[in-house]
Amino acid sequence: MKNQLHLLGSRQGTYSWGEKSIMLINDKGRLALISVSGDPAAEIGQEEAGGQNVYVRQVGLALAKQGWRVDMFTRRIDPEQANIVQHAPNCRTIRLTAGPVQFINRDDAFGYLPEFVKQFQAFQKQEGYQYPLVHTNYWLSSWVGMELKKLQPLKQIHTYHSLGAVKYRSVSHLPAIASTRLAVEKACLETADRIVATSPQEEEHMRNLVSGKGMIEIVPCGTDIQRMGSIARQDARQQLGIPREAKVVLYVGRFDRRKGIETLVRAIAKSRWQGNADLRLMIAGGYRPGQSDGMECDRIKTIVQELGLNEIVTFPGRLTDAELPSYYAAANVCVVPSHYEPFGLVAIEAMACGTPVVASKVGGLQFTVVPEVTGLLVPPQDEAAFAEAIDRILSNPAWGEQLGEIGRQRVEIAMSWESVAYRLTSVYSKLLAQSAVQSVQKPQVAA
Ligand code: UDP
Repeated sequence: MKNQLHLLGSRQGTYSWGEKSIMLINDKGRLALISVSGDPAAEIGQEEAGGQNVYVRQVGLALAKQGWRVDMFTRRIDPEQANIVQHAPNCRTIRLTAGPVQFINRDDAFGYLPEFVKQFQAFQKQEGYQYPLVHTNYWLSSWVGMELKKLQPLKQIHTYHSLGAVKYRSVSHLPAIASTRLAVEKACLETADRIVATSPQEEEHMRNLVSGKGMIEIVPCGTDIQRMGSIARQDARQQLGIPREAKVVLYVGRFDRRKGIETLVRAIAKSRWQGNADLRLMIAGGYRPGQSDGMECDRIKTIVQELGLNEIVTFPGRLTDAELPSYYAAANVCVVPSHYEPFGLVAIEAMACGTPVVASKVGGLQFTVVPEVTGLLVPPQDEAAFAEAIDRILSNPAWGEQLGEIGRQRVEIAMSWESVAYRLTSVYSKLLAQSAVQSVQKPQVAA
């Protein structure tokens, strides 16, 4: 496995020797982040590669900077992929082969998890150590964590990213895996050493819809506050060729019906700025022809055409990390029209760039967006309400700037990846201290 080492040339990957030695002095120990279905080294912004992948990678990098030796485990989906991707001196992605080496829908991956557990153990054996802490992400990985816990001493921390109990309320056909997922999510809540909820709304859902048992701590998601907010609005517009006076509305995210892009397009058709040459809607996100995201993108393009909005709507495709700050900064308003959103990284990224947010009043968006202070919240799927909220901000640019400034402050205070990593470190350290006490209290067996 060690033979295919691939170094990512990312900004985070370049550490000076000084920093490296500080990390060794400050060694906090080994930690495995498990994300079976969301590869932290993948390209973000298309099918099944969104917030979870970003979260695992950025949390991993930030924890490594704070002295943890972080290994992030995922399922290999392409024979061309490196087995190990080294992101920074103490942070790497390890791809385990479990099931076919190809993309499979998350709903079809459960059967390959026993093999994933086996491969994880084989990796530990080969490396000559066991991870005392395993932080699992999404329900598939929670099952892996619970199985590992039967096989070795470890503390399991879990982040759900999405709850079946909430998601299934808004779908007309339940997938075949639904009952298994619900049972695994309940077992995990009741047995994991700590559950990390990313917002008070998510904690409430867990308590009301999953189980009253289990230990939950709230640690929000984060964003890169150095990168996001690094460019001023007019500079960003110049870079993207957008006129100074344009009224720019932005969507960033995957093409998935749950994201509510249709609501946004229909709201734009209702906007009082519609028909004005200055109005623009940019719908950014990756898609692959023939895949489910490609089909959703085609559906949206058809609606745009039917509504006669071709002239004002653009589809710039998947945005890279380097491009995102300019798009957010160039916009007068960023819209997050999701039907359901466990957290919604896009909202805090826009806020970090000083852009106000109009979002659905659902899930974690109710925690990140403060209505009338950093943006506006409206009922999901209500295109008239979205149109009205967007118009209020577009019609009052000075107020829009003010909302954006306060949004930036809100993210700076509590939602940088550094602050998220500090809070997770405190959770991990408490659990490790418990393990130490438990091992001292264990009665010694006479030889
Ligand atoms: N994203 C990206 N490029 C794109 C579209 C999205 O990098 O073209 C990123 C976006 O910046 C955010 C993540 O994908 O960090 C989406 O996370 P979010 O929590 O908003 O939604 P999810 O995809 O998890 O449902």
